Amino acid sequence: MLRDAIRSLAEAKIAPYAAAVDEEARFPQEALNALVAGDLHAVHVPEEYGGAGADALATVIVIEEVARVCASSSLIPAVNKLGSLPVILSGSQDLKKKYMTPLAKGDAMFSYCLSEPDAGSDAAGMKTKAVRDGDHYVLNGVKRWITNAGESEYYTVMAVTDPTKRSKGISAFVVEKSDEGVSFGAPEKKLGIKGSPTREVYLDNVRIPADRMIGEEGTGFATAMKTLDHTRITIAAQALGIAQGALDYAKGYVQERKQFGKPIADFQGIQFMLADMAMKIEAARQLTYAAAAKSERGDSDLTFQGAAAKCFASDVAMEVTVDAVQLLGGYGYTRDYPVERMMRDAKITQIYEGTNQVQRIVMARNLP
Ligand SMILES: Cc1cc2nc3c(=O)[nH]c(=O)nc-3n(C[C@H](O)[C@H](O)[C@H](O)COP(=O)(O)OP(=O)(O)OC[C@H]3O[C@@H](n4cnc5c(N)ncnc54)[C@H](O)[C@@H]3O)c2cc1C
Repeated sequence: MLRDAIRSLAEAKIAPYAAAVDEEARFPQEALNALVAGDLHAVHVPEEYGGAGADALATVIVIEEVARVCASSSLIPAVNKLGSLPVILSGSQDLKKKYMTPLAKGDAMFSYCLSEPDAGSDAAGMKTKAVRDGDHYVLNGVKRWITNAGESEYYTVMAVTDPTKRSKGISAFVVEKSDEGVSFGAPEKKLGIKGSPTREVYLDNVRIPADRMIGEEGTGFATAMKTLDHTRITIAAQALGIAQGALDYAKGYVQERKQFGKPIADFQGIQFMLADMAMKIEAARQLTYAAAAKSERGDSDLTFQGAAAKCFASDVAMEVTVDAVQLLGGYGYTRDYPVERMMRDAKITQIYEGTNQVQRIVMARNLP
């Protein structure tokens, strides 16, 4: 029922704008409006804060179905979870109430600020600092590649509180867009997910109350990594949706397109490509849904499974979207058809929330 509901909303209210959002590299406001109206913008927020209280699998299905028509728009529910999960996992009751309530209502979005210009895969090498000053912390630094920066009201920011302790000297904070000293860089000009703004976040003497710290001092990096264990599964869902969208489009196209006097779908060479695409997607789906169930239960092998799902599903999304372009021939290579956009969008799923090389490091360290 959830899938049917989100699919019809996505097809009616998000899909019609997907090409324009990509072409114009603009924020998908129509998608945000539709998702908020359908209470699907941040479904993971627990009911006690006014949220939909969806479990991890339901959240995955929402993201998958939005990504099937528009990957940029799927970053609204995905990044709302990524940005807010540190607060849900480690924040005080007061922080949860203060920040989850407007998120659940659709009055605010949440972003996640871990990466920096010189700290990507090696996120613990970050330089952003938070220095205690009485009842406040003062933050200084630059966060890079921040999804929905400028659109979001709230930002979970990881910053160094004790430079002698590396990852154990990092703490997490909630920073608000309206805090004095917060500003944003120009939107990055990207290959894909062009409708999802990616900008730098500048923190220039940002003075925030000490109770905006998420959890204890020095626990921020652990919270950031624990968050990724759960949210990598949402990137797997995004990859899965992109791949399914490409397969669905290609499947229809090959029945219409005629060469040698018959639909190209009649050629076994084409049928085998479609069979392989569907097989890979189904394998990615099973892995992703199983990982989502592990996320919900908090199973001990979640770290391996989350990394495996993200890595596998994103590699599948890349392969399947390249094949979808191939199935449309020259037409697939043009912006008159959606599969080239899907191919460009798929690429990011192999890069963010940890590149697929990093996922392999994570899996190797946590072999079942
Ligand atoms: C569109 C977009 C949106 C993003 N959104 C966010 C966001 O909202 N919040 C956020 O905090 N970050 C975000 N990121 C950042 C993203 O997570 C990083 O780009 C990613 O982690 C890689 O870091 P890097 O770009 O610095 O690459 P690098 O770490 O410099 O990596 C370069 C290459 O080296 C490889 N590599 C690095 N170390 C190793 C190793 N030990 N072994 C093998 N290979 C290695 C990498 O896999 C990669 O292929 C986003 C990035 C993009 C492009």
